[in-house]
Amino acid sequence: MKAEIIAVGSELLLGQITNTNAKFISSKLAEIGIDVYYQTVVGDNPTRLNEVLEIAQKRADVLIFTGGLGPTKDDMTKETIVKHIGTTLVSDEDALRYIQQYFERSGRVMTENNKKQALVFQGATVLQNRKGMAPGMAVEKDGVHYILLPGPPHEMEPMFTDEAMPYLLGALGKKEVIISRVLKFYGIGEAELENRVQSILERQTNPTVAPLATADAVTLRITAKADTEEEALALIAPVETEIRSIVGEYIFGTDEDTLSSKAAELLLRNGWTLAAAESLTAGLFMAELADEPGISASLQGGVIVYNEDAKMEQLGVEKALLDEYGVVSAECAASLAWNVQQKFGTDIGVGLTGAAGPDPHGGQPAGTVWIGIAFKEEEPVTFKLFLSGLRNTNRRRAARFALYYLVK
Ligand code: ATP
Ligand code: MG
Repeated sequence: MKAEIIAVGSELLLGQITNTNAKFISSKLAEIGIDVYYQTVVGDNPTRLNEVLEIAQKRADVLIFTGGLGPTKDDMTKETIVKHIGTTLVSDEDALRYIQQYFERSGRVMTENNKKQALVFQGATVLQNRKGMAPGMAVEKDGVHYILLPGPPHEMEPMFTDEAMPYLLGALGKKEVIISRVLKFYGIGEAELENRVQSILERQTNPTVAPLATADAVTLRITAKADTEEEALALIAPVETEIRSIVGEYIFGTDEDTLSSKAAELLLRNGWTLAAAESLTAGLFMAELADEPGISASLQGGVIVYNEDAKMEQLGVEKALLDEYGVVSAECAASLAWNVQQKFGTDIGVGLTGAAGPDPHGGQPAGTVWIGIAFKEEEPVTFKLFLSGLRNTNRRRAARFALYYLVK
């Protein structure tokens, strides 16, 4: 089966947005063995979309469209394709009810043109939109499958995975399911991780194991194909266990977890309060934690003590300590953690100090970071990092390492 992905939208041609939909769909189709031969981008223009349709239907068996399903005038994907394949539009009751509820929930009045969003091709399989209003659809005409998806990625991606993939697997005559489990690592580089699990990476066919580094974490994705979900999970489990036995100490979470979501979960579950004193990160650590809903139950406050005077005046870090050990030291990090914990009366105090770069700072080379964590009455613990990135990469990584040490 050969596929062509057709992204509709003038913003794409104007360079205002990147065609991430094509990237997403291509990678998903690769997982189920459908070859993508072409990716096309066309503006919101019926004549030109028709030209694309004429060509694409001759060279592909599956045409996947994204964008232009909305209620506004420039949204004309549906109207153009319906004429091309010679069918009619009918209102889908479920979709219409869903749109009505969508408006009721948000307390807005539904206008006439919104009903247009519930129109689908006669006889099409309707693809539910759980994140927005316009449903998608899939239909076959003369041996060619037409799949229409909304443009916004947060609507399109779940619809593609949950609705369009099963449709395509059905069209392929396969009834298999594909399930992925993502393991998330911190504190280990991608290269070292790959090295350590090399034998697993090489021998896998089902499940496959693929490494991927993102800004937040290094991940391993375990993907299994099977006839049922249970069978797929049973294929994944032993591979996950094996990976954990080798590099489990660096795993901080799975699937949708982030360092900040795991840290927030830990704090809220235990009812622990936290305050932070940040030097080189200047608030980045607290900002990451504050991304998490509900964190106000734990996060009390913090201070940014960027220079030496502020450390002494705002937090009472002793001059003698700074003179003896310097600002970039275990002693300073521990003092920041302890003093901020006392100041705010919290269960946990976190202190961050370091030389972000590009120049050395406090007698320490760029990239040297000390993190202190004070927990209840215990002696604060400290961690040293040598970061090799540019200034702001180091600052962000220092903040994330502090989250990681909290979670660990
Ligand atoms: P809406 O109901 O929001 O109008 P729609 O299905 O009509 O949805 P479009 O109007 O084409 O979709 O696009 C809506 C938004 O979705 C765009 O402004 C853009 O942010 C995003 N978008 C559209 N196409 C793509 C694409 N190919 N890749 C990434 N983002 C896209
Ligand atoms: Mg639109």
